[in-house]
Amino acid sequence: MTSGPIDLHTHSSVSDGTETPGDLVASAVRAGLGVVALTDHDSTTGWQEAAAAVRGTGLTFVPGMELSTRIGPMSVHMLAYLFDPTSPSLVRETERLRSDRLHRAERMVSRIARDYDITWDDVLAQATVGATLGRPHIADALVARGYARDRSAAFAGILHWRSGYYEPHEAPSPLTGVQLIREAGGVPVLAHPATRGREPSIPQTHLLELIEAGLGGVEVHHRDNTDPGSARLAEIARRHDLIMTGSSDYHGAGKPNRLAENSTAPDQLQRIVDQATGSVIVVG
Ligand code: AMP
Ligand code: FE
Ligand code: FE
Ligand code: ZN
Repeated sequence: MTSGPIDLHTHSSVSDGTETPGDLVASAVRAGLGVVALTDHDSTTGWQEAAAAVRGTGLTFVPGMELSTRIGPMSVHMLAYLFDPTSPSLVRETERLRSDRLHRAERMVSRIARDYDITWDDVLAQATVGATLGRPHIADALVARGYARDRSAAFAGILHWRSGYYEPHEAPSPLTGVQLIREAGGVPVLAHPATRGREPSIPQTHLLELIEAGLGGVEVHHRDNTDPGSARLAEIARRHDLIMTGSSDYHGAGKPNRLAENSTAPDQLQRIVDQATGSVIVVG
């Protein structure tokens, strides 16, 4: 595999990133990455463009996705690598997720519109056609209307999960997520599991259940994990022989996260590749 940092968690305009998959690859090349994974929320639509874009660049592309799951009102993000993008059960679930996210965003916007001058068209104007819609697009619309300085400010205020405008979207349980990803030949890695202050994080008992069900790894190094949280995750990963990843969660201009601000060791990526049977990396 190529040299240079390995960043296994990024978003394009196929979900809530601000760069097209092709532009994201160009940014990854500029940042000097050796390997980049595209992990758009609930969508594999960007895979082809990213795979084509790495050709001749020396950058390696890892097809991935960040699957939305939830435990009650708590949203849990599950990274998935190298699965079969045509797996019927996974395709059905992600289609349902994207459609429910659309309706949920509409409902949130109609609530917000009682107090602020904002329309559904404002939100659609912030997303590419077919994108996985989420609060980031509503945030961009609020920014465009001058109600927030940037996405982060919108999330701290109007879009906060305790704001009164928030509503969850339908999503499978993390357990179902792990099963769907494994059935599709992919490797499930729990994303930023030790966040504090933003939204509650997954209880340890659930984590043990997921490991039992085939969870492949945990994202130990991520800016949203607290230091004690990361240490605890690394300890759990060692004890259960889980893959440990680190990544940026780059969203282009949508978040301050910079490519390769956290990265994954080559032997850990190798473990992902070895476990996967659903699709293959693209060496550019
Ligand atoms: P949703 O899934 O629609 O509830 O929105 C959650 C998404 O918003 C996640 O994918 C995050 O990347 C993004 N997000 C969460 N907090 C922030 C923030 N403070 N600034 C920008 N984006 C955020
Ligand atoms: Fe996101
Ligand atoms: Fe996430
Ligand atoms: Zn993400």
